[in-house]
Amino acid sequence: MSLPSSISFLAPAKLNLFLRVFGKRPDGYHDIRSVMTPVSLYDEVILEKAAEANGITVECDAAEVPTDETNSCWRAASLFREWCGFTWGVRITIRKRIPVEAGLGGGSSDAAATLKCLCALTGLRPSPAEYLSMAARIGADVPFFTMGTTALVEGYGDILTPMPLDTLFYAVIVKPSFGLSTREGYARLKRDVTQRPESGNVPLFPSLTALALSVRNDFEDAWAMEFPEIARIKEELLSAGALAAGLSGSGSALFGLFPSESEAREGLAQMQNRSVETGARKYFVAGNIL
Ligand code: ATP
Repeated sequence: MSLPSSISFLAPAKLNLFLRVFGKRPDGYHDIRSVMTPVSLYDEVILEKAAEANGITVECDAAEVPTDETNSCWRAASLFREWCGFTWGVRITIRKRIPVEAGLGGGSSDAAATLKCLCALTGLRPSPAEYLSMAARIGADVPFFTMGTTALVEGYGDILTPMPLDTLFYAVIVKPSFGLSTREGYARLKRDVTQRPESGNVPLFPSLTALALSVRNDFEDAWAMEFPEIARIKEELLSAGALAAGLSGSGSALFGLFPSESEAREGLAQMQNRSVETGARKYFVAGNIL
């Protein structure tokens, strides 16, 4: 079987349909409970074998994304090479559509796409356990993106339970003009250290109404004082007909849920027509990937 010399994969964004944060644990992490679902807003990650032995180069069309060894794709390629020892160079190109520092998991998804590309380019695939541990070493959300399906996320983000989600929805995703850092979000959350996570069964969402009732994000309170724009966007999404609206991850992007693509586009048009001063917001419509 001949192996390709270049390949590309789409890297989807994720939404946290809900995100609860509990007390800080002795290891410094917070316990969380969240449902994460991939949606059809994509970066594209392209990998090419290159002549320069052992070199990893990254190019990205978004200036705010680092292209050095701190790039998540660079780290993914480096770990994969450590695992299987390929000796050729690799050129990584990221076509960025997922906004950065938005809580949409773009960097983590790009890394998961890089691992997929490398499996295809080398014809090698780590065992499921090795693959997950490699993903976890790159970043907290990377294991989720290697699974490619909706999941209940617990522990500090390390315990993943795939869950079926038959309910289709479309989301209007709004990224305010500013990004937010996950690290800072956790620092602002005032959590009682004794607050333990509620344990419970994997939630089931038999209908979009049931799903909408679960939407909630503890980071909204953490940012409320300094960024009133977050509550404003949430309010606008609800006024535009969203069944529910909330922050994704630690922000700054919010999403509103709609039953169909046409209703989502109608809601988006209503928001854009309000012609209030919204700065450099970005808007997207995306469906969940079943
Ligand atoms: P999460 O929800 O996982 O916290 P996020 O969407 O808030 O993610 P990202 O956009 O993934 O955050 O990236 C956060 C930081 O990671 C950026 O500020 C950027 O400097 C760095 N980074 C490294 N690699 C990438 C990448 N491939 N794409 C985007 N950002 C990257």
